[in-house]
Amino acid sequence: SPALTPDQLKALVRTVPDWPARGVQFRDITTLIADGDGLAATIAYLADRVDAADAQMVAGMEARGFIFGAAVAARLGLGFLPIRKPGKLPIETLGIDYALEYGADRLEIDPGAVTDGMRIALVDDLIATGGTACASAALLRKAGAMVETAHFVIDLPDLGGADRLRRDDIAVDALMA
Ligand code: AMP
Repeated sequence: SPALTPDQLKALVRTVPDWPARGVQFRDITTLIADGDGLAATIAYLADRVDAADAQMVAGMEARGFIFGAAVAARLGLGFLPIRKPGKLPIETLGIDYALEYGADRLEIDPGAVTDGMRIALVDDLIATGGTACASAALLRKAGAMVETAHFVIDLPDLGGADRLRRDDIAVDALMA
């Protein structure tokens, strides 16, 4: 089992108050992934949960979801599907527009990466309001995937994102709050 406990991993995450806006407690995983044991243990815990979910592929959201998602996928011998910001993929993409607190955003994937009925696990560094994860799940489902689980390093439960995902029939787990 991993050399570090979830509490020890939490101590490696840097919390920066009032960034990028007043009132936000930014959880910066830069310090966690700079620590070799911290990175290894984080990936080991996430991979155990993705493996238990019997996923056939891992999808991660740009950009920090790429770091954790790709490492988890490689550890399990699964493929990795990047969920990208608009305009990054050199092909005809499948996309979804979603609302932000202020404004709107869009996510895109390569629809050719998804086969019908494939079980895809979502991985990201953090869930806050759940807007990004819900849009990602909807996009993967639109491409024909089954999205039943989402895995995060950090959950900010007061922001309601995990509850929102559960209402979309997605089981949520996180290593720390
Ligand atoms: P949300 O869509 O509100 O769940 O926000 C999730 C996305 O925004 C994740 O990809 C996070 O990387 C980032 N994010 C939101 N809030 C924070 C926070 N307090 N600290 C660090 N990252 C955050």
